[in-house]
Amino acid sequence: MPRYTNLQTFMRVPASKDLGSADVAIIGFPFDTGATWRVGARFGPAAIRQATAGLRPYHPTWRLAPLEHLKVVDYGDVQVVPGYTSETVDRASAELKDALVPTCVPIFLGGDHTVSFPELRAVAHHHGPVALVHFDAHTDTWDQQWGQPIGHGTPFWNALQEGLIDPGASIQLGLRGSLSVDGDWERPQRLGFEVVTMAEVDPFDADALAGRIRRRVGDRPVFLSFDIDALDPAYAPATGTPEVGGFTTREVIAVLRRLAGLRFVGFDLVEVLPQLDAPAQITAVAAANIVYEFLGRLAAARTPTQIGP
Ligand code: MN
Ligand code: MN
Repeated sequence: MPRYTNLQTFMRVPASKDLGSADVAIIGFPFDTGATWRVGARFGPAAIRQATAGLRPYHPTWRLAPLEHLKVVDYGDVQVVPGYTSETVDRASAELKDALVPTCVPIFLGGDHTVSFPELRAVAHHHGPVALVHFDAHTDTWDQQWGQPIGHGTPFWNALQEGLIDPGASIQLGLRGSLSVDGDWERPQRLGFEVVTMAEVDPFDADALAGRIRRRVGDRPVFLSFDIDALDPAYAPATGTPEVGGFTTREVIAVLRRLAGLRFVGFDLVEVLPQLDAPAQITAVAAANIVYEFLGRLAAARTPTQIGP
């Protein structure tokens, strides 16, 4: 059947709420009330799923078809309450703790970055504190947004407060842009994160960046959180808080392909705003292909004949 036919699950994998026998679950998290600038990421999961119709099954770098090595299901979306951030976080945390099992790696499709907090609650519930690999223009470690404790600027502060991530094994990459206050980038470092600003990425060296990530996380369980605004707005214009001077899509794929050997226990891809993505769905296509790299990474880790980039 042509790729554009049939129901739009992720790459047309079966829809299922039963994750007990799945290796990977695609889970939409269509919530955007935590955003501080442009909103609309609630429509991100649907747009990314639609863009995955363009993906072909065979990954030439890994020389395998990920879906032949992994049982992947599309869970559908987590329950949300538009307009009610704390309520959504609590309901989603409970739902995800029940739905997930340790043998299933979730790949979440956001949603604004608020969603990483309840995701990490569920993942850490099954794996203990995780090493965070965080691609983003922003630190997302504020302790509040206008006095409110939960939003898309606070997920990793929230996660730290509950012991869900090990900051000493965590790294943020891609920080740039104008800041609200002096010290915004020192804050995550004070909290224990390693921080890589875009100034340090220039000139780009995929091996060096992947090496920094690998040394930082070691053999710990890893959660990779990818804010699509890590990409330059030229490559991902449809996002909540665009910042110029970011990664190209090719650069992040080069880094992701060099992360062999990491023990991934979860991923998310957040902050895609499809209403700003006309006419070519550039951002959703980038998002779908980055998630495809996550799948390829997981599939390659299961095969004896692993081919490097
Ligand atoms: Mn973010
Ligand atoms: Mn961001």
